[in-house]
Amino acid sequence: MITLAHGAGGKTTEDLIKKIIMPKFKIRNVNALGLDALDDGSAIKSGKTFFVFTSDSYIVKPLFFKGGDIGKLAVVGVANDLSVMGAKPIAMHLNLILEEGLDSSVFEKILSSIGKTAEEQGIAILGGDTKVMEKGKIDQIAISAFGIGVTSKLLTDADVKPGDDIIVSGGVGEHEASILIERENIGVSKIKSDCAPLQDMVEKILKIGGVHAMKDLTRGGLTMALNEWSEKSKIGLNIFEKTIPVSKTVKSMCRIYGFDPFNLACEGRMIIAVESSKTRIVLKTLKKTKLGKNASVIGKAVEGGEVVLNTSVGGRKLLTPFEGVMLPRIC
Ligand code: MG
Repeated sequence: MITLAHGAGGKTTEDLIKKIIMPKFKIRNVNALGLDALDDGSAIKSGKTFFVFTSDSYIVKPLFFKGGDIGKLAVVGVANDLSVMGAKPIAMHLNLILEEGLDSSVFEKILSSIGKTAEEQGIAILGGDTKVMEKGKIDQIAISAFGIGVTSKLLTDADVKPGDDIIVSGGVGEHEASILIERENIGVSKIKSDCAPLQDMVEKILKIGGVHAMKDLTRGGLTMALNEWSEKSKIGLNIFEKTIPVSKTVKSMCRIYGFDPFNLACEGRMIIAVESSKTRIVLKTLKKTKLGKNASVIGKAVEGGEVVLNTSVGGRKLLTPFEGVMLPRIC
């Protein structure tokens, strides 16, 4: 039976995909990057160009939150998965599933947000589909989005090399913390979601060279992303807790709920694996951008296969993905 944990993006989701979903499909690749890679997107190569594809669905609750809304999230979420593979997002399809009785002004506000975010990024909305379900069968609106990007150089989760420095582009956990605070109305001041497109930062650092891989931190947070790199690149990661930026609000919210900030989702942060000769210039470039001013080198890729966190108090522990569900419907 399907549980909320199957949609939480952690170990349970991974098991569902690998053990139940994937074995049903025998043909899983065309000529470049297919389902088995379980990367941020897939790719088909034509001549020297990779066409990169990704899809995602959005059921965030509430629909509007500080720093974003379900519409902005749909565009940003899809675009970021393409950006971190080195592809420039160029087009999207949108499938809208609406609840009978949805307020037209709410719907139009979401559409305007989709339009504005896509326009700012130069992303065309090429098509989509609209369905309506009976009242009570769905909670207001769900959006399923499909995106296309292009690149001549594809970066994947398997490309991290021992010796690479690992950079995080900003404070972790702010999106999930923002959603939780909106929903629970707890006595912590509102925090703005980090929901934002990564493409500007990505373009600037790719120009420098030496960037081997990038990954956006979504469900499962920093911990999940680091573990995916470790598994797919067959490397170890040596991470230093005190170098990871976490805002005061995220810290205090984590104390109240007993959450680990490194497991919280972001929608506008990424990790970058860069060869050490380029680390300083990449970091300096990130820090000059609006989204990257708190960027920080958080560790190093090493031989081996484990993600080790060197804690602020001088201990060492394995950083393993959480199992189960912390908070449903964060994206
Ligand atoms: Mg991703």
